[in-house]
Amino acid sequence: MDESNPDMTKAVRQHLEMNGFFTGGFAVKGGAVPLKPQSEEDEAAIAEKAAELEKTADEVHKCRKCDLGASRTNAVPGEGAPDARIVFVGEGPGADEDAQGRPFVGRAGHLLDKVIQACGLKRSDVYICNVLKCRPPENRDPRPDEIISCLPYLQRQIEIIDPEVIVALGAHAARTLLNTNKSIGQLRGQFHEYYAGIGRPPIKLMATYHTAYLLRNYTPENRKRLWEDMKKVLAELGLPVPEPAKKQ
Ligand code: URA
Repeated sequence: MDESNPDMTKAVRQHLEMNGFFTGGFAVKGGAVPLKPQSEEDEAAIAEKAAELEKTADEVHKCRKCDLGASRTNAVPGEGAPDARIVFVGEGPGADEDAQGRPFVGRAGHLLDKVIQACGLKRSDVYICNVLKCRPPENRDPRPDEIISCLPYLQRQIEIIDPEVIVALGAHAARTLLNTNKSIGQLRGQFHEYYAGIGRPPIKLMATYHTAYLLRNYTPENRKRLWEDMKKVLAELGLPVPEPAKKQ
């Protein structure tokens, strides 16, 4: 590390502070709470959802609806609990995700893992996926035609899982799911409604900052905003809101 470079030192301090916040020990009063009570009847329904998600993933792996199908190394359909109460939706795979075929496994993914843990949850409790299932070259923004081609996969995944809350990470996910051009600054911090189909009740959608944005634009205020958004999600689900452990 170049200590003589003040920007480098500041960046390292900010990242340590952010990581420290999300991993610094969050206590859930009364201990961990099961995310969903399970019965034997549930097991058959969960197996059916898993099979449907698998079918969708197979379609994604074969997909050639846009040019990204030719440039990808691996398609990245998504992963997690078929009966998740929370679905996290990001923008699209980056280099690490393209290499591994799994969502959110790079730096932004590690921060998302920490946010999930800070919520008192495990990655396997939730479902994680993206608007785009294939990596745009050089991590450029998704193009509208790519989003239009790919959106039916995401819509189908949400329809199958039928979560109680969707967390849209960043502007691309929030705008796509809410069909709006508003900025993430306007959309974040409040619940919106996502319509999964005619005759189905709307699903609550919380828009918040993408973890990659937080890594690039770290400030204690931005970190606090993301955490405040997640606290609203936990409260909506009736889950205990962990508080950061007090420093001795
Ligand atoms: N950013 C995303 O939007 N999705 C990923 O899977 C990884 C990084």
